[in-house]
Amino acid sequence: MDRNFDVVVIGSGAAGLSAALSLAPHLRVAVLAKGALNAGSTAWAQGGIAAVLDAGDTFESHVEDTMIAGAGLNRRESVEFVVGNAPAAIDRLAALGVQFDHSGARLHLTREGGHSHRRIVHVADATGSAVQTALEKAAAVHPNISLVPDMVAIDLATDRHVAGRRSGRGKHVWGVYAVDRAKGAVSCFTGRATILATGGASRAWLYSTNPRGSTGDGIAMAWRAGCRISNMEFHQFHPTCLYNPQVKNLLITEAMRGEGGRLKLPGNGRRFMQRFDARVELAPRDVVARAIDHELKRLGIDFVHLDISHKSPDFIRAHFPNIAARLAEPDIGIDITKEPIPVVPAAHYSCGGVLTDLDGRTDLPGLYAAGEVTQSGLHGANRLASNSVLECLVFGVAAAEHINGGWDELPPAPAIRPWDESRVTDSDEEVVVHHNWQELRRFMWDYVGIVRTTKRLERALSRTALLRREIEDYYGNFRVTPDLIELRNLVEVASLIIRSALARKESRGLHYTLDFPDMRPKAKDTILVPDA
Ligand SMILES: Cc1cc2nc3c(=O)[nH]c(=O)nc-3n(C[C@H](O)[C@H](O)[C@H](O)COP(=O)(O)OP(=O)(O)OC[C@H]3O[C@@H](n4cnc5c(N)ncnc54)[C@H](O)[C@@H]3O)c2cc1C
Repeated sequence: MDRNFDVVVIGSGAAGLSAALSLAPHLRVAVLAKGALNAGSTAWAQGGIAAVLDAGDTFESHVEDTMIAGAGLNRRESVEFVVGNAPAAIDRLAALGVQFDHSGARLHLTREGGHSHRRIVHVADATGSAVQTALEKAAAVHPNISLVPDMVAIDLATDRHVAGRRSGRGKHVWGVYAVDRAKGAVSCFTGRATILATGGASRAWLYSTNPRGSTGDGIAMAWRAGCRISNMEFHQFHPTCLYNPQVKNLLITEAMRGEGGRLKLPGNGRRFMQRFDARVELAPRDVVARAIDHELKRLGIDFVHLDISHKSPDFIRAHFPNIAARLAEPDIGIDITKEPIPVVPAAHYSCGGVLTDLDGRTDLPGLYAAGEVTQSGLHGANRLASNSVLECLVFGVAAAEHINGGWDELPPAPAIRPWDESRVTDSDEEVVVHHNWQELRRFMWDYVGIVRTTKRLERALSRTALLRREIEDYYGNFRVTPDLIELRNLVEVASLIIRSALARKESRGLHYTLDFPDMRPKAKDTILVPDA
């Protein structure tokens, strides 16, 4: 396959495919995915997409709800931009064949926590899957789009990698080096512009609701290439993920608490939420997650129970058919009509990432970013439900439009040096990668979780420094594998998260530290600068 394109898009979720479809009328686009095309978070989104579509609703209200959730750290111009472009994003998806639920002739709008109006469009409880399928279908038939699954991006190709140059001072991005999962061969995909749409980093923690690939690859690649990274301390934890040593990412919907599910301590079966919030199990997500975390740490236990078995079996099966069926499968074996579910909070969404502007531009010429990989200014210190797929749809198109509009000024990509494998050999110790991966996710869970302290963060930072040396050494001596690439990125991202958390001397939004429990009067982004 020819590796030279007009634009290289890394990521085939809502952000990457939206960008590709807006570029494709005039430009040749490659879309890389590190596994199957639908293996990112987009296909897993359940709830829906927020947009002002109801006569009684207003853009101002959606903007205010987003700013309140974000604890005032949001960039207002970004929030207004995304909210204002939301209805058009929904129209585009409908035109691609997404069959949103209707109530009569109108779209059915549901309401979620933090939204003061009904404004969530959805396709039953599997919106993301419908969106992913429609975008993928449109991209697959487009003659200008080459979909390239199983191609794992390693690092961005910049001026430093131009053939014939020994060292390059410029920072233009010309594409990306990537390894073919099946063949193990590394090649470079080049383009006049490159778009990072690689999703979030929730797999940095032991428990996560995300698919396996959410390892922050785009954030780590952008950082190594010279981009500023912002607000990494703001990571959203979903309160109730199944606790199971094998099945680590099964989300138990909030609707179960909404329908009467009770949180209890294992052993004595006592409820505990009344000690934390008058709304008990219906308190906001971050309050419930913090309460569970408090009990886990206080009692030294691994999970708490979520119990709905006091309701009738018919009620439970009618409301939670999918969860009841999945939990009853032999690998889990829980009958929720009779017994409680062991749950833990789990890493769910990265609010921080690569700093971008309203055109999806990063700090480096030729490099754009869109979706969960970014810190676009939309979310601030906490994400409002159903704003994230929306962010992908809006900024994917914004980046594409900026590239389309400035195409003639973008210089053609020069020849890039081939990947140098002359000094590496095959690893005979894959167990090291596996072990380090486990260790990292464990200490991130124990020390950089929902409730933080400076001491725990410092402890975690020194662990990342040790692991990082070990992994870099390994990376320098052995042929790259997808697992090693992800581990190298995870340790980079873990260190960015911890450094950001240490830099914030207050508690705001999703960042809560016992050493600085109050919020400062002025909201300020955390911005990490490479080589600073
Ligand atoms: C269980 C769950 C429920 C959710 N529910 C909702 C919801 O109801 N509403 C909402 O708005 N949001 C929801 N979210 C969040 C939302 O799904 C994500 O934020 C959003 O889909 C991210 O899209 P993306 O395009 O940025 O990345 P993703 O969809 O995650 O796609 C990332 C892409 O990048 C590729 N990639 C990554 N690294 C590399 C690499 N090194 N080389 C090559 N390719 C790479 C992947 O293969 C993939 O194609 C939910 C998330 C989860 C996990």
